Amino acid sequence: MAKHKTHYEDCDVLVVGGGMAGTGATFEARHWGRDMKIICVEKANIDRSGAVAQGLYAINCYMGMQWGENQPEDHVRYARNDLMGMVREDLGYDMARHVDSTVHMFDEWGLPMMKNEKTGRYLREGKWQIMIHGESYKPIVAEAAKKSADKIYNRIMITHLLMDESQENRIGGAVGFNMRTGDFHVFRAKTVIVAAGGASHIFKPRAVGEGMGRTWYAPWSNGSAYALPIAVGAKMTQMENRIVLCRFKDGYGPVGAYFLHLKTYTQNANGENYEKKWYDQTKELVGDYIDHHPTPTCLRNHAFIQETMAGGGPIHMVTTEAFQDPHLETVGWENFLGMTVGQAVVWASQNIDPKYTNPELTTSEPYVMGSHATCSGAWVSGPEDLSPPEYFWGYNRMLTIDGLFGAGDTVGGSAHKFSSGSFTEGRLAAKAAVKYINDQKAEDIKVTDKQCEDFKEAIFKPLETYQVAQNEITGGTVSPSYISPIQGLQRLQRIMDEYVGGIATNYMTNGNMLKRGLELLAWLEEDLEKVGAEDLHQLMRAWELKHRALTSQCVTEHTMFREETRWPGYYYRGDHMKLDDDNWHCLTVSRRDPKTGKFSLEKVPVYHIVDENEKKKAS
Ligand SMILES: Cc1cc2nc3c(=O)[nH]c(=O)nc-3n(C[C@H](O)[C@H](O)[C@H](O)COP(=O)(O)OP(=O)(O)OC[C@H]3O[C@@H](n4cnc5c(N)ncnc54)[C@H](O)[C@@H]3O)c2cc1C
Repeated sequence: MAKHKTHYEDCDVLVVGGGMAGTGATFEARHWGRDMKIICVEKANIDRSGAVAQGLYAINCYMGMQWGENQPEDHVRYARNDLMGMVREDLGYDMARHVDSTVHMFDEWGLPMMKNEKTGRYLREGKWQIMIHGESYKPIVAEAAKKSADKIYNRIMITHLLMDESQENRIGGAVGFNMRTGDFHVFRAKTVIVAAGGASHIFKPRAVGEGMGRTWYAPWSNGSAYALPIAVGAKMTQMENRIVLCRFKDGYGPVGAYFLHLKTYTQNANGENYEKKWYDQTKELVGDYIDHHPTPTCLRNHAFIQETMAGGGPIHMVTTEAFQDPHLETVGWENFLGMTVGQAVVWASQNIDPKYTNPELTTSEPYVMGSHATCSGAWVSGPEDLSPPEYFWGYNRMLTIDGLFGAGDTVGGSAHKFSSGSFTEGRLAAKAAVKYINDQKAEDIKVTDKQCEDFKEAIFKPLETYQVAQNEITGGTVSPSYISPIQGLQRLQRIMDEYVGGIATNYMTNGNMLKRGLELLAWLEEDLEKVGAEDLHQLMRAWELKHRALTSQCVTEHTMFREETRWPGYYYRGDHMKLDDDNWHCLTVSRRDPKTGKFSLEKVPVYHIVDENEKKKAS
């Protein structure tokens, strides 16, 4: 252990992850905490990290309140409808009422925004989306964070949260290691804001072998946002609400601009509108939800999956009409060049010119995240002026651990935040974290050297395991005494794929399969004690895997608990195929006991605050 130097840093606000939410948190923490010490720790480099690393072509969440385009209430209704009723409306409203101010700052900071030539307003792609030339999006928000923080640590992966030893259930900081130097870093902090993104690669991806890494969601998002809080006993919500995306095949190019701006549409292999064909069958499963407008994302997926299973595939996006217009053709290509270059490359390699050939679509493997058309994540307090008692415990976006906050993909129950909403939520969390410190809630935190040293030993153990076990390697990679991170990852992905509703079963699972999945995950957890790492990069892979495995356990427990099929098209409980509003119009909340590793689950009421308030006003 002596060969891994230890560095100590004491601070007020520690931000874990410098993506959209993390940069927002770092920026806002400085605004409210002028004299505070603010540190941001990032696994990659904040200039090009997180899901927005390559850039985006649209900001997907902008109300346009100054022009009366949308109000926060409208966004709450929209997100509630898309998530089949299951959202935290207090969180959604709170984000929506602040998101425009965030976007206006991006504009001031130099993000190139497209403007509507006639009105001078931001150019709309859809009701909520505005179009940008977004290749520089991430470096711009990173600069704001760099100017605000006392220090940004790049290339440090946070592996564990530290707990206060003088007061129960209070945060004390975080530890991790530098993936370039191998040094051990201890951050003792009064508050921690976890903003570490969502989770890809917990379900087996469609692209394996040479294509591995080509996923829709960022392949480096490994569920730390969930595993870090779960490990210390924070409550989580809606972890069963994994998302499946309908995207261009093989390159996962986004379809939003195509549907909304280019007005392209989908059809089956016979040129038919297949969505209509599945209306009656879907109505049988979910009742009136199929009549809602816009059709919830999961139900559109459902029609796609059913049509493919019935032999109507491949499903195509009809681009050949829109691409005859040279302007739309340019927009179509630019959409990928600024955001998903890989899709353009895939089309070139497959001889597809969308002007003459309608490209294929596919449904992705499931991902776990809290900021897109899905809302898995931590159970957090809402704002004091909006939240009912069950949803409020003192500080906005604080988890059920004192002093531990979350934002972006970390936070559950608040879907459709996207990049701008995640940055906004980071700002909200930071403001509350500073208040928590100013309210003297973080006095006399005690983190002993023993707690840190124990983590140090655990963190570097995979290097030791490899060093000893490498003597037994045969055939290049096979050893009886350790498993490599890639072997462990593939085992995890198969368990999730085959038992928890991945692509192998067309997203189908049931109570018996989930029970078996949990058994296999428990054995995997045991075997991960023997994961070996031959270098620091593999050490990162080992910890990414451990975080993915813990996240997967939580997803599986939640999927088992909710005995209905709430989101057909995201997953199916074959033993409870229908949506069941009588018993399951509620949020699911879990807690893993850090001592025993056992999960307990409960139902929590879902409050429809927006329309309730309106009803009260009317009466
Ligand atoms: C393919 C794709 C397309 C999208 N398209 C759009 C779009 O067009 N418009 C739009 O508005 N939004 C879009 N989004 C959504 C948007 O990107 C996310 O909502 C947003 O990035 C979430 O912010 P976040 O901070 O939670 O996560 P991220 O931005 O992903 O940031 C998480 C950060 O945490 C770091 N990290 C992870 N683990 C650790 C650890 N253990 N220690 C330290 N650091 C860690 C990561 O490196 C990363 O920098 C898209 C997302 C994806 C995946």
